[in-house]
Amino acid sequence: MTDILRIFFAFACCLLLVTRTAAADVELTPGEQALTEQGKVIEVAVMYDFVPFSYVEDGQLTGFVADLLKLIEAKTGARLQPRISEWSDSLQRLKNKQIDAIANISFKPERTSYTLYTTPYYEIPTVVFTDKQFGNYESLADLSGKHVGVLKDIFYLKELSTREDIRISTYDDYGKLTRALAFGEIDAAIQNLTSGYHYATKNAYTNIKVAGEFTLDTVGREDLRFGVRSDRPAIQSLLQKGLDSISDQEWNQLINRWVGVSSSDFTERRQTIALTPEEREFVKNNPVIRVHNESNFEPYNFFEDGLPQGHSIDFMRMLAKRAGLEVKFVSGRSWNDYLKMMRRGELDVMTNIVYSDERSQYMLFTKPYLRLAQGIFRRQGTEDLDSIEKLKASRLALPEGFFTYQKLSQESGYNLIPARDPLDALMRISTNEADATIEIMSVAEHLMRKYAVPGIVGSNPHQVMASEPLSLRLAVTTDKPILRHILQKAMDSLSEQEKRQLQSKWTGSGALDSNYLHLSGTELAWMESHAAARICTSRSRLPFEKTTEKGDHIGAFADLLDVIRHNAGLSVRLVPVDNFSQALSYLKEGACDLVSRAPPSLESTGISLSHPLLQESLVIATGLDEIYVHDISQVQNQTLAVLEGSHVQHHLETVHPDLNLRLYPDLSHAMDAIASGQVFGLIDTLPSLSRAIVTEHRSDIKISGELADIYPATLATRSSDKTLLQIVNKAIQSIRPEQYETINNRWLQAPVTAEPPDYRLIIQAALATTLLVLLMLVWNRKLARLNANIRDSRNQLMQAHEELKVKNRMLEQLSTTDRLTRLYNRLYLEKAFEEQLARAEQVNGYSFSLLLVDIDHFKQINDRYGHDRGDAVLTDFAAVLKGSCREQDIIARWGGEEFMLVCPDTRLGDAMAQAKSLLYSIQQHRFAHVGHCTASIGVASWQPGDSYQSLCRRADQALYQAKGQGRNRVCREDETPSAR
Ligand code: GH3
Ligand code: MG
Ligand code: MG
Repeated sequence: MTDILRIFFAFACCLLLVTRTAAADVELTPGEQALTEQGKVIEVAVMYDFVPFSYVEDGQLTGFVADLLKLIEAKTGARLQPRISEWSDSLQRLKNKQIDAIANISFKPERTSYTLYTTPYYEIPTVVFTDKQFGNYESLADLSGKHVGVLKDIFYLKELSTREDIRISTYDDYGKLTRALAFGEIDAAIQNLTSGYHYATKNAYTNIKVAGEFTLDTVGREDLRFGVRSDRPAIQSLLQKGLDSISDQEWNQLINRWVGVSSSDFTERRQTIALTPEEREFVKNNPVIRVHNESNFEPYNFFEDGLPQGHSIDFMRMLAKRAGLEVKFVSGRSWNDYLKMMRRGELDVMTNIVYSDERSQYMLFTKPYLRLAQGIFRRQGTEDLDSIEKLKASRLALPEGFFTYQKLSQESGYNLIPARDPLDALMRISTNEADATIEIMSVAEHLMRKYAVPGIVGSNPHQVMASEPLSLRLAVTTDKPILRHILQKAMDSLSEQEKRQLQSKWTGSGALDSNYLHLSGTELAWMESHAAARICTSRSRLPFEKTTEKGDHIGAFADLLDVIRHNAGLSVRLVPVDNFSQALSYLKEGACDLVSRAPPSLESTGISLSHPLLQESLVIATGLDEIYVHDISQVQNQTLAVLEGSHVQHHLETVHPDLNLRLYPDLSHAMDAIASGQVFGLIDTLPSLSRAIVTEHRSDIKISGELADIYPATLATRSSDKTLLQIVNKAIQSIRPEQYETINNRWLQAPVTAEPPDYRLIIQAALATTLLVLLMLVWNRKLARLNANIRDSRNQLMQAHEELKVKNRMLEQLSTTDRLTRLYNRLYLEKAFEEQLARAEQVNGYSFSLLLVDIDHFKQINDRYGHDRGDAVLTDFAAVLKGSCREQDIIARWGGEEFMLVCPDTRLGDAMAQAKSLLYSIQQHRFAHVGHCTASIGVASWQPGDSYQSLCRRADQALYQAKGQGRNRVCREDETPSAR
C-alpha cells in the first residue's frame, strides 16, 4: 500500500514538475500577460491548402503550423485560435487589422507597414530530388550530363539553360515533375522541398530522395513566419517568446513529423563552407582564433553578465562555425591595447574596425559588413557644432585609437581629449571635461539610454565632414592572409535572411522596429564609392522643408531625411535650390543625385521615383465667397495661380494641360492675386496652403476643395542610379509609424478638408440664382405674382451662404486644432505666442510664461498597453490640462506626448505656482486602463530681448532638468541661463 502511495506521489510530483516547467517556459510582460487572461483569444489566420504546413483534412486543420500553435499555447498560456481562410483574404484582413495574426507569411519589405514579424519558424529550401542511386548534390557540376526537370517559367530556368552540359525538360506542375522523376524520365528534379516531399509521400514514390540544396545567387529560401497586425506588438512578442522557448528536441519532432527527416541532412551541411586544401590546412593548424571583445561598444561589441555580447560577437561566431574554427574572445582591454596586440601578433582578428592606410600596414581587412551613420554629440544648451571651425574650437572627447581619433589627430587644429571608450567620451561631455564627441549614432543613443547619461544632445551633422558613415569590417594580422580569405568566404555565404535576423536581434525586433537597415553588397558598395548622396532641397517650402540662412535644414522632409540618413547610414550633402524646376535640371545635369520633393507625374525616361514619403493632397484655395470645389472640371475655365517652378506647376501642366495657369513667385503674392480678383484660386498642397493661410493671417482666403489627384511626396533620382534608389526605398520603408506621427504632429498638422457641403443646398442655391435671373427677365409682366417666390429663393440662397460660413469656420478650427486631443496645435500656438510677444514688447512691465509639459515614461505606456490606449491617455491628459487651467491660458499639443501652455500676463512666480497645481491635478487623476501617470514640467517667462526660440529653449531646458532630477516635478528656467 505504502509502495503504491509512494509511486502515486512520485507520479503526482512528476506531473507537478511538468506543469510547472511548462508554465515557467516563458516570462511575460504585463502586456503579454493580459493576452493570456481567461476568455482572451488570439486569432491566427491559416491557409487550408498549404501542405504540409497548414491544410484541412477531414474537416480538421492539420499540419506543421497546427502543431506549432498548440505548442506555443502550452508554452505561453495564451489561446491561439486558427481561422482558416484563403491567403489573399487573410492578408487583406491583416492589413485592415481585422485579424490578430497570420501564419506562413514571408518577409517582404512592402509588408512591413502593416506586419510585425516573428523570426521564421521554417525556411523552405529549393532542393534537388534524385533517385536513390544518385550521390550528393553539391553544385551544378554534379548535374553535368544529366537530364533535369524543372517547373516551366521558373525564374532560374534561364540561368540553368546557359549550361550546355545539362539537358532540361520543363513540367506544368510539381505533381508532374515529381512523377517524371519517380518514373525515370529524368535524373533529377529541382523544386522546393515541401512540394516535392508532399508528392513523394502522397504517391509513395519511395525511390526518390533529396540529394542536396539547390543554391544559385538568385535562389534563396522562402521563410515562413507569423505576421502580426501592426498595432499589436504584444502579440508579436508573445508569439516570439513562444517560438524562442521551443527546445531543439521539440523543433526536431515538429520537422520530422511534417517535413521529413531528409531536410536536416543538408541544413547541417549548409552551415559549413567549402574550403580549399590550403584553407583546410590552415584551419587544422590554427583551430582557435583570438578575437577582440570590447567592454562598451554596445550594441555591437561589449561585455556584460560575464559574457562577450553584441552584433559583431554573434557575427564572428557564425562565421567561425561555418569555417570550422573556434573563437576565443579576449576581453577587458582598451581599443588601443587591442591594436597593439594585433601588432604583436597576440590577437588574430579584430571585428567592427574601420579601414585606414596606417592600419593596413599591420592588418588585412575584409569587405565591410556594417555601415553606420555618425553624429556629433554635445552638451545640451551649447551651440550647434555645424562647421569644422566650431568643431576645432571645442574639446572633442574621442575613444583613443578609434578611427576618428586617429584621423583627427593627424589633422591640425583639433583639441582632442582621449577617452577610454565611447561611454567614457559621453560621460566627459556630461561632466564638462569635454564639449563634444563624434560617435556612431546608434551607439551613442544606446549608451545614453542605457546608462542614463544626462545633458547630451545629438546634432545635425549634414554638412560636417565627420558625418561620413563608418564602414565596419573584420581585420586579421598581416601574416594570416588565408584567414582573411576564409572569413570573407564565410561572410559571403551568409544569406540576406541571416544577416537581417542578426541585425534585428541587436538593433530592434523585426524589420519594423529595426533602426538600421540591412543593405546588400551592391548597396554597401555604392556607399563605399560615393562620399555622399547630393540632394536638392528647396530653400523655402515650409512645412515640407526650408534651408535657413545659417544653412539649417528644417521641416517635415528634413526630419524624414534625418531618419533616412540614420537608418541607411547614408551620408547626405544638401544642395539648396530655389524651386523644383531648378532641382530637376540639376538632377538631369548630374549636379545632384536626388530631388527632395517630386510630383508623382514626373516618372519619365531617365527619372525614377522613390516609394511615397508622405501622402499629401492638392487643394484649391479661393476667396471666401466661392463655393465648394469638388472637381477640377469645375474650375476648368478659371484662371488659377500656382507657384512658379514648383512641383505642382509641373504636375498640373503634365496631367491637366488644359488648365489656365498663372505663375507666382510665392504663396503671398498668389493669395493677393486671389484677393484682388486677378485669379480665381490657387493650387498647392494642403499642408503648405493651410500653413500659409494661418501664418499670414489671411482671413480672406479659404481652402475650397481638394483635387482628386493622388499626390504623394516622392524623391526623384536618375534611373541610372538604381542602387541609390534601392537604398532610399529601403530607408523609407524603415520609417516607423510613430516617427511619421511625430513629424506629422510637428509639421503637418493641417486641416482635414471639410466634408463636401450638402450638395442639395448648393444646387438649390444655384437653381435659385438661375431662377432669379429668369425672374428678372419676366419682371415687368409677372412681378406681382412672383414676388412671393422671389422671397423664397432669396431665403434659400441666404441659407446656403450661412451653411458655407459654418463650413469655413469648421475649416479654420480644423487647421488650428490637434486631431487627437482637440487642443490647439503648434501652428495656432505659434500665432498666440506671437501676439503675446508683440504685447510684451509694447506694454511696459507686461510678461507671460510658458509651461512645457511632458508625460513621463510615455513610451512604456505605449509598449505596455498598446498605442490605442496610449492615445486614450493623451486625450485624457488633455482634459486634465483643460480642467486645471485658467480661461485665458492657451493649451496646445506641442508634439507627441508634450504639451505647451502659454499663460498671458503671468510672471515666473505665478507660473511656477500654476505648474505645481497642474502637477498635483495630474498626480490625482486616474487614467482609464493605465491608472496613474506623472508628468514633468519646465517653466520659463518672457524677458526683454526674448524671441520665440529663446523662450522655448529655456522652457525645454527646464523640462530637461525636471526629467534629469527624477521626473514628476516642476523646474524653472535657470536664473542665469547660459545660452541666452
Ligand atoms: P520621458 O519620461 O523621458 O519623457 O520618457 P518618454 O517615454 O515619455 O519619452 P520618449 O520621448 O522617449 O517617448 C515618447 C513616446 O511617445 C514615443 C512615441 O512612441 C509616443 N508617442 C508620440 N506621439 C504619440 C501619439 O500620438 N500617440 C501615442 N499613443 N503615442 C505617441
Ligand atoms: Mg517627450
Ligand atoms: Mg515623455
